[in-house]
Amino acid sequence: MDTNTFSQQMKRLDDRFKGGKKTPDSTIRLYYDVLVNIPGYAFAEVVKRIIISERNYPTPEDLLQGWRIYQIEHAEKMISEVPETDCEYCNGFGGLDVTKDGYYKFLVRCGECDNWERTIPNKRIPRWTVKQIEDAGYWIHKPAPPKKRDIQRGAIKDMIEDAFENISDEDIPF
Ligand SMILES: [Zn+2]
Repeated sequence: MDTNTFSQQMKRLDDRFKGGKKTPDSTIRLYYDVLVNIPGYAFAEVVKRIIISERNYPTPEDLLQGWRIYQIEHAEKMISEVPETDCEYCNGFGGLDVTKDGYYKFLVRCGECDNWERTIPNKRIPRWTVKQIEDAGYWIHKPAPPKKRDIQRGAIKDMIEDAFENISDEDIPF
């Protein structure tokens, strides 16, 4: 999420829990470092829920926890709500199969676009740019399917589950 979106949402928290007294910029930056990977549209929902249900100003962990709950509840919805953008590397799919030997391959989130927010919204799956893939001695196994809309949601879920099964720390060269 960008810093503007983040500041707007933090202001809502200030209004709710601190009577509008502004949280110091240094604190905002600390929160932002922890929460930067939450998409803006999701963070707004997380903040809204905290405003409705909590009594105290949230810690970064409270907000992360809200994001985890959001992901579980919105797994299906997220696939359709985030607009697809063009990407020449993943063709809008948001994921790339990478390999070193052409045989053993695994899924990473595409580091060249934000389509993964729609299709693979799980940050445990590494996100690599093409340069990172090449620098690590990997290559993209095959072009992603030509049209994302041909991919059934079930297939995306299967791919994510496969990725979890196959992934290990040795797979991540960074
Ligand atoms: Zn991409």
